[in-house]
Amino acid sequence: MTTRMPAVFLGHGNPMLALLDTDVTRRWQMLGQAIPRPKAILAISAHWYLPQTAVTAMAQPRTIHDFGGFPRALYSVAYPCPGDPQFAAEVARRLAPEGVESDLAWGLDHGTWAVLRHLYPAADIPVIQLSLDARLAPHRHYARAKRLASLREEGVLILGSGNIVHNLALARWEKDPTPYDWAERFDTWVRQRIEAGEHAPLLEMEAFGEDGQRAVPTPEHYLPLLYVLGVKEDNDSVGFPVTGIDMGSISMTAVQMGG
Ligand code: ZN
Repeated sequence: MTTRMPAVFLGHGNPMLALLDTDVTRRWQMLGQAIPRPKAILAISAHWYLPQTAVTAMAQPRTIHDFGGFPRALYSVAYPCPGDPQFAAEVARRLAPEGVESDLAWGLDHGTWAVLRHLYPAADIPVIQLSLDARLAPHRHYARAKRLASLREEGVLILGSGNIVHNLALARWEKDPTPYDWAERFDTWVRQRIEAGEHAPLLEMEAFGEDGQRAVPTPEHYLPLLYVLGVKEDNDSVGFPVTGIDMGSISMTAVQMGG
C-alpha cells in the first residue's frame, strides 16, 4: 500500500540558516525524520519566480548561491542530490495543455537547498523544482496544485518554500528583535484560515488589508503556500511544525498537510 505523503510549506527565512543550528533548523530536521521518506521531492521556491512555467529536468541539478553579501562559507555549500528527468516530464504531462519548459539551466536555489540540507542531509532523494509562473493569478497557482495533488499518493513530497510574512525592507537586524504587530496579526490570520479550511480568503491577495499589504509586499514568498493548500485532501490533518517571526518581519511559520 502506498502512503499518501504529507505536503509541507516551510518559511525559509535567512539563507544563513543553511549553516546554523537553531530551534527552527532542529524542527526542520525533526520534520524530515517524522514523515515517511519520499521517493522524490517537487519543490516550489520563492526564488524561481519568472514569467513562464518551467521544471528542472537535469539529472544532476547544481546548487545555486542566489544571494549576495553573506559569509564565504555559505557559497561553498553544495547539495548534491540527483534530479529526475522522468519525474520532470511527468509533472509537465500533468500540467498539459499548459506549456511547461523543460529547464536544463537552473538547478536548486537556496529556497530549496537551505531547508533540504536540514530535512535530508544525505542529499540522496531526487529533487526537481517547478517555477512560480509570475503570469498566473493566485487562484491559478492553487488550481495548478490540485492537478499535482495525486503525486502525493506516489511517494512525492510537495514542498513549498517561501515566507508567509516577508518584508525585507522593514526587517530589524538587531539581535532578537520584537516582531511587528502587523506581522504577527497577519501570520495568525493566515494560520487561522488554514486551520478552519478557509482557503478562499487566502487567494484574494488583492483584497488583503493593511497588514497583508505590509506582510506580502511582493507575491513570490507567499505564493508557494498556495501549492501546499491546493494539494490538501479533505481528511488531511493540518499542523504548524514551526511558528514565530524572525527579524521582526519574516514569518518562519511552516504548514504541514497530512502526515
Ligand atoms: Zn527567500
